[in-house]
Amino acid sequence: MRLVVLGGGESGVGTAILGKKKGYEVFVSDFGKIKENYKEVLGINGIVWEESQHTEDLILNADVVMKSPGIPDKAPIVKKLIEKGISVISEIEFAFPFTDAKTIGITGSNGKTTTTMLTYHLLKSAGLNVGLGGNIGKSFAWQVAENKFDVYVLELSSFQLDGIINYRPDIAIITNISPDHLDRYEYKYEKYIDAKFRITMNQTEEDYLIYDVDDEASSNWLEQNKTKAQLIPFSLVKTLEKGATINDNKMEIKINQEEFIMDTEHIALEGKHNLKNAMAASSAARLMQIRKATIRESLSNFQGVEHRLEKVLKIQNVQYINDSKATNVNATFFALDSMNVPTVWIVGGVDKGNDYNELMALVREKVKAIICLGVDNRKIIDAFGNVVDMMVEVNNMKDAVKTAQRLTEKGDAVLLSPACASFDLFENYEDRGRQFKQAVQNL
Ligand code: ADP
Repeated sequence: MRLVVLGGGESGVGTAILGKKKGYEVFVSDFGKIKENYKEVLGINGIVWEESQHTEDLILNADVVMKSPGIPDKAPIVKKLIEKGISVISEIEFAFPFTDAKTIGITGSNGKTTTTMLTYHLLKSAGLNVGLGGNIGKSFAWQVAENKFDVYVLELSSFQLDGIINYRPDIAIITNISPDHLDRYEYKYEKYIDAKFRITMNQTEEDYLIYDVDDEASSNWLEQNKTKAQLIPFSLVKTLEKGATINDNKMEIKINQEEFIMDTEHIALEGKHNLKNAMAASSAARLMQIRKATIRESLSNFQGVEHRLEKVLKIQNVQYINDSKATNVNATFFALDSMNVPTVWIVGGVDKGNDYNELMALVREKVKAIICLGVDNRKIIDAFGNVVDMMVEVNNMKDAVKTAQRLTEKGDAVLLSPACASFDLFENYEDRGRQFKQAVQNL
């Protein structure tokens, strides 16, 4: 069997190594450059690769093609493969048949990484032999090749789910759904929602789907479509017979006639959105029969993930918070919602068709000044110009942070939560977050 791997990044190289181990003839093709360390690994494993081009003769001769998640369906080479009827799948799909390990698959618009890391932390603290993969860290396929773990917690983007045929998680989590990446789905929200729900399409009665019952898109989809999986809902506001809720500052999880209760004040992560993430991750942990005491302890010591409402420093009693990963309005909504002191808000970047109206009430209530940090700030100025007293435009992070400091007084906070992509002024959201932290250190 001839396996062609499109894209020589983490998931591509992992797939190539697994394919080679399983006896495939493997060819890796990347239209851009492949990192030196990956070239070395491919070489050591005797895998043929090319970069800066796609040799069509070789690619169109494949029996199966693994497409890396960054490559869109409309790329010419992918179109040609589909026209020829060659199966184009994702890394998760390729690797899945080669492992007996259980998988917990986590998708959604926001909260994937946090929920994945938290679930991993819960299982690991319980002593399970657990791996972490998908969009995070080492690729799933690579780990399957090394046959390392009994359970995997996988962060799955909709792009990865687009490329599945048989993948079936034992436990699926859909954190929530709001418009994002619509450019990859013909600007049709329904298509994006369907892509997320592919996570459950192969599940059976033995499997579970954990989802946010307060989330309109998820609830509507489940009313109109079918899944065989057992449903485990979670909710911030509803009382539920089964699943996870917040009641009187207590998190309550009812699964299989057993109840788990924990005071929310002992959960280390802050913000309502993180209560949802905690409910989702703890439900998965309960389904995996993790002991209540272990869950309690792990939730109280999990410190969160870099660039997600990350507390950087307190300077002259002003708290600086890095939420650079907030690349859409929904994520920023929860960041602003979690603020309980007057806030100087640094916002802006590449707009993804944002509707700022959703933030209006929160901005009115919590924001004392806005610092616009983007190439094009027009929409932000139009939306909030009359709502806040102070609005300043800057064009680099240093100035943003210095200006923020000038506008604060004791007891305030400075929040970087851009609601936009970062590519206008930064390499990526990590670069943006690090520049923020550096600028804060320099104060
Ligand atoms: P993802 O991996 O889905 O992008 P992250 O956990 O990296 O999610 O969080 C992305 C952004 O969304 C961060 O700004 C974070 O504070 C915010 N966020 C985290 N969990 C949620 C949630 N459940 N709902 C809305 N926003 C969230």
